[in-house]
Amino acid sequence: MDLKKSTIHTLSENLKNGTVSSLELCQEYLKNIDARDGEIGAFLEIDREKMLNAAKASDERRASGNAFSEFDGIPIAVKDNICVKGERCSCASKLLEPVKSPYDATAVELLKKQGFIPFGRLNMDEFAMGSSCENSAFKKTRNPLDISRVPGGSSGGSAACVAADFAPAALGSDTGGSIRQPAAFCGVVGVKPTYGRVSRYGLVAFASSLDQIGPLCNDPEDAGIILDAISGFDPHDSTTLPAASGGYAAAAKKGAADGSLAGLKFGLPKEYFTGGLDSGVAKVMDETIAKVKALGGEIVDVSLPHTKYAVAVYYIIATAEASANLARFDGIRYGSRQDANGLVDTYYKSRGAGFGDEVKRRILLGTYVLSSGYYDAYYLRAQRVRTLIRRDFEEAFKQCDLLLTPVTPQTAFKFNEKSDPLQMYLSDIFTIALNLSGHCGISIPAGIDDATKMPVAAQIMAPALGEKVMLQAAAAFMK
Ligand code: GLN
Repeated sequence: MDLKKSTIHTLSENLKNGTVSSLELCQEYLKNIDARDGEIGAFLEIDREKMLNAAKASDERRASGNAFSEFDGIPIAVKDNICVKGERCSCASKLLEPVKSPYDATAVELLKKQGFIPFGRLNMDEFAMGSSCENSAFKKTRNPLDISRVPGGSSGGSAACVAADFAPAALGSDTGGSIRQPAAFCGVVGVKPTYGRVSRYGLVAFASSLDQIGPLCNDPEDAGIILDAISGFDPHDSTTLPAASGGYAAAAKKGAADGSLAGLKFGLPKEYFTGGLDSGVAKVMDETIAKVKALGGEIVDVSLPHTKYAVAVYYIIATAEASANLARFDGIRYGSRQDANGLVDTYYKSRGAGFGDEVKRRILLGTYVLSSGYYDAYYLRAQRVRTLIRRDFEEAFKQCDLLLTPVTPQTAFKFNEKSDPLQMYLSDIFTIALNLSGHCGISIPAGIDDATKMPVAAQIMAPALGEKVMLQAAAAFMK
């Protein structure tokens, strides 16, 4: 069976027609994984028996007319920082290597309710800190389109998994671009929902005011299908929004059917198109703008003047929150313990041995910016600038329906190319502001860079809870 770029919506048709069973589908995906994951390294582990048993149960439900939904029996792979009951949840960290989830994340539970089969543990940067997957404590993940290049990060395993046809879709998490950037590097679709749209319950917290779970998949309709399943208010996460959710797949479907952007105003924030952009990326963005116009979209110039502070603000706020969130991983309450003389030494030794260099760097930075005497100068000031960044977006959205930007300044880079942490941080320049503002964004493949022959992606950003118009536009564009 050819599963190349298979979408959830076509697989769902196949399951309905009986041309394939869930068991066959899962077996075929496992075959692809067996054939190529040795080289790619998307998965940390897979409980095959559990996956195949879930597929058999789904086939039985369907045969007896009791399918949970039209998507019953479709596998979706899961990033290693999202809890699936009974499975390992290591966040690609040695510290959490022995940890098994006692419960399902809400997003996982909601997928299971529709009969989806969440499976596998996808590699990532340790605790989602990184942009290349090189910070995983366990293995390298390679970009399926060119194995000498990184898949992006931190959801690099999720993007590589979809790009290599190991699953039709995967869950990732986006704190500062970690869904959109790897999606861009691997040529797949990735969505960061509005902050509060998807429950964070069961997502291991990195920076709680920024984190969102979202889909990586092959087209906007599939992103909509997954968002339809996982969005909404959750009593377990007080930051989820009470607003009604759903209708996302239908919006994308409409966009693909119409193939038109008429009536939509796209703002081009000038700060995202100056300097720093590789010429191949700039060329594809020019073509993208021309295509948007050809499809009837209107282009307007806008400005997000405080975006220039986004990377600095992010690396203060995200590290501050991380230093607090990761305090619980002390080898006693959670994680693997290195016994020493007394409590404090046990903390030191467990955390010293368990965390990798980048995680330690972030904890140190975060602790520093929160410490007395520095709090006002760094953390508080960063919070104020964050408000200015958010207001820029709100002002811009008064002038347009959507924003159109690149996702990354360059295409997927090679391993060890960015060994300086600051250089790595700067590669997040186009994705991070959106996490700080809380709005939603999608990364869609837009073309190929002539020099690297790697995919270039466009980012469409929408106002808070604007997922429908965003997906509709993305689907029209991709068609
Ligand atoms: N590259 C960003 C970081 O290292 C992205 C993190 C994320 O979105 N999880 O913090």
